[in-house]
Amino acid sequence: MERIANEKVLYERHAGGDIRVCVVYPNIYRLGMANLGFQAVYHIFESERRVAADRAFLPDPDEREAIRAGSAKLVSFERGDPLTDFDIVAFSISFETDYLNVLTFLRMAGIPLRRAEREGRNYPLIIAGGSAVFLNPEPIADFIDMFLIGEGEEMVPEFAAAYEESCGRTPDGRARLEDLARVEGAYVPEYFTPVYDDAGRITQVDYRGALDSRVNRRLIKDLDRFTTASLILTQESVFGDMYLVEASRGCQWGCRFCAAGFMYRPIRYRSPEKLIAEARHGLSERSVIGLVGAEMDRSVTVAPEAGSERMRKVINKNLTEIEILSAAQMLVAGGVENLKLYFMIGLPEEHDEDVIEIAHLTGKILERAREQKKHVGRVTVSLNPFVPKPWTPFQWDPMEDTQSIKHKVALLRAELGRMSGGSIELDAESPREAYFQTLVSRGDRRVGSILERLSAAGIEDPGAIWHELRTIKSEVARGEGGGLPDPDFFVTRHYGNNEILPWDFIDHHIHKWFLLSERKKAHYEHQTKPCDVTRCTVCGAC
Ligand code: SF4
Repeated sequence: MERIANEKVLYERHAGGDIRVCVVYPNIYRLGMANLGFQAVYHIFESERRVAADRAFLPDPDEREAIRAGSAKLVSFERGDPLTDFDIVAFSISFETDYLNVLTFLRMAGIPLRRAEREGRNYPLIIAGGSAVFLNPEPIADFIDMFLIGEGEEMVPEFAAAYEESCGRTPDGRARLEDLARVEGAYVPEYFTPVYDDAGRITQVDYRGALDSRVNRRLIKDLDRFTTASLILTQESVFGDMYLVEASRGCQWGCRFCAAGFMYRPIRYRSPEKLIAEARHGLSERSVIGLVGAEMDRSVTVAPEAGSERMRKVINKNLTEIEILSAAQMLVAGGVENLKLYFMIGLPEEHDEDVIEIAHLTGKILERAREQKKHVGRVTVSLNPFVPKPWTPFQWDPMEDTQSIKHKVALLRAELGRMSGGSIELDAESPREAYFQTLVSRGDRRVGSILERLSAAGIEDPGAIWHELRTIKSEVARGEGGGLPDPDFFVTRHYGNNEILPWDFIDHHIHKWFLLSERKKAHYEHQTKPCDVTRCTVCGAC
């Protein structure tokens, strides 16, 4: 109740209709309320006259303990109702690592996890959408009745209308699902059955629905038609002091590791007039406006992503060393004392020499800064293991083996220490976390049983997840896995160019040959120019 009292709702609410929908962010409140996608989809449902919408979040850790111990119950945020009271539970999932939280949430809500266990019983319809889902929903396909693939502004109202119409026509859940499957962008996993060969690769996907077996990912053409900005303000959100406005969707640069540069194609910008109007409105609420978009960077971070010029060509970063050095120089000249440099490690085509180049580039940045005789405080090298993402040219590439990543990090640490005498800080993300992220990014629906095991054991901590995944791997190797797949199959295996990928049934409007040609260009260190949506039609999105 205290949280509700501390919120300021910036739009007019209405009493709501008969369809009871609970929109769930599968992580804690302060993260959910900082997520514009979650706020937007909640608002869309709430704006529907036929819907009475509520919210729910993954409880904070102490509440989770209490729920597990049976001394508390998971209820919706506004009305405090049990989740089983709703007609529809709608997950908004931005990050694939939150897939595990979806299961944890269902378990705490007293809703059977598997679709098959809910069949014919009076449970809410469980649906899911969000950017993680439209890259690859398969790891949670056995737990969700229906996915909405793509951007929700037009699709969610169509879904609500179809639901209302179907309720008037039939009380039967199965028949209703058939009606809802007609909404463009709807994916009903029950209609799709993957077939695997002896090696575990998908050889075909049997479809038993009545429509097209390709799911059309929805996208809105004109961002100006919809306002995507902070709708509910609270200081508790991680961006509590800001009013957030979405400036663009997608990215023109096409870095080959980055999902945002491919999944939202073609790039769309909000018009300056609309942006200014929204920012003006925001300034009446907060003194800081946060622009949201893949090309925006709110913190003082320089992101060369790769140390060597060669690797920046491989990943299509379109940034030269001169440009990076002058960007850092400008920041220091502007009075920025602490610099953060963002790099990835374990990228396809990367060698040890490329990793050493990270240290050399950082050294040059530090040198330039000192030449300006400005005080330079801390220089931090933030290092993240490469995680291959669906719908990018690197979707076929594996994550590099954790031992090899550790070796490269040690190499870099030694070189940085030798060069800077300790004035450069290295902040390296654990490859163990990246391993889990890759598993849920690249996994097929068999990964669901791994998530089920983690959630049944109440495992949430990244270290404990890693430990359990290693245990599963050993069990599978001994033939004692009880049907669980080897996690390495999805993480450290190179997917074949002609292999059916778990997410291939989605039509993202990007030619597969285009992604493959981008992958080849990476090998030959050839760059691709940024998108020119006025004349280019090459990838299929425009
Ligand atoms: S068709 Fe060309 S401009 Fe349009 S998204 Fe694809 S590469 Fe970019």
